[in-house]
Amino acid sequence: MASIRSNSIPPFIVMDVLEKAQELERSGAQVIHLEIGEPDFDTPHKITEAAIAAIQQGKTHYTHSLGILPLREAIAEHYQKRYSVSVSPDQVIVAMGTSNALLLTLCSLLDPGDQVILSNPCYACYPNFVRYIGGEPVSITVHAEQGFALEPAAIRQRLSPRTRAILINSPSNPTGNLLPPDHMRQIAELGPYVISDEIYHGLVYGEREHSILEFTDHAFVLNGFSKLYAMTGWRLGYIIAPKELVRPIQKSQQNLFICASSVSQWAGLAALTMEHPEIPRMLATYDERRKFTIKSLRELGMGVAVEPTGAFYVLADARRFSSDSYELAFDLLNRAHVAVAPGIDFGSNAEGFLRFSYANSLENIAEGMRRLKEYLARPSPQFGNTPGSRTKGSDVGKS
Ligand code: PMP
Repeated sequence: MASIRSNSIPPFIVMDVLEKAQELERSGAQVIHLEIGEPDFDTPHKITEAAIAAIQQGKTHYTHSLGILPLREAIAEHYQKRYSVSVSPDQVIVAMGTSNALLLTLCSLLDPGDQVILSNPCYACYPNFVRYIGGEPVSITVHAEQGFALEPAAIRQRLSPRTRAILINSPSNPTGNLLPPDHMRQIAELGPYVISDEIYHGLVYGEREHSILEFTDHAFVLNGFSKLYAMTGWRLGYIIAPKELVRPIQKSQQNLFICASSVSQWAGLAALTMEHPEIPRMLATYDERRKFTIKSLRELGMGVAVEPTGAFYVLADARRFSSDSYELAFDLLNRAHVAVAPGIDFGSNAEGFLRFSYANSLENIAEGMRRLKEYLARPSPQFGNTPGSRTKGSDVGKS
């Protein structure tokens, strides 16, 4: 019998969609993947070369629990250069992905019953992480018409003596929108620590993104190499923490994980310190796909109130077609072989929405849109055929 904790964590529904799509593919279906938040590009070649060199040079041992010093220095310098903020390498903890960075951060902050403020919708795993370690997610409704921006005034109303942190994510998954800098400034002034997930930094099309460190030092930056550098499988991320929290995080790292992968850390150093001509090309390609995806979805009658200008997602309002995004996503997958993420995965306030990832070729996106059009033109779908144990995602509150 599994533990209460592992029984009660909801599935990451987008992974269930992906795994169901793969099952269909094994029986011969050609599925168009618009569900998964993973670059379709390969890691830039100077990064892979650095990793091969690291292996050949025997850099295959455990590293310092905080990460190799040159990488921690490069991260501090990157923040200094890009955002003009002062970060010491002593504040940097290298982790096995941003997911891991979030776990270590929350473990360092939360006692049972402590609260973390989140937007609804937000990245599906956030509330699950908070609950998993005994905390309480407090969700704030955000609105499509306002670019799903987390409003400082709405947060202020929900602050309590148990509030330990406010978790923000700009550019955001699932919305692709950026939080205006003035909102970030006001959120920074509210008092609790701000945890800023900056994993989509660099993936912006026009608007500039801001680091929370431009507004306060009373904050944690979470970042990683998965998205901008197309390094999802390398499992590499980091925390920039307030100095007083570094040692507690380090002790958790030593006990739970020892250190991040040595080879990946050397690759990460090359990512930050070398020029990669592939990256501007990826950005231009994403931007082209972004425009095409938004235009196509609008033509199909899906609502995109504020154009997303970051990450590689469009969260589109599909309430005209169904109020049950879970059923809609699985029906679309089963009948039209188009995989998308149901809004409900990201919170109750995204029910009726679908998240489209444009980390796929223009050709595949166009085929996905063609199938979607055909699907929507058919008479009312017979829902069903969804995975057996359904536990809806991050519905973290009523507000
Ligand atoms: N934060 C957000 C907002 C994400 O979208 C993801 C990946 N989907 C992660 C964190 C986790 O990324 P990593 O691969 O670095 O663990």
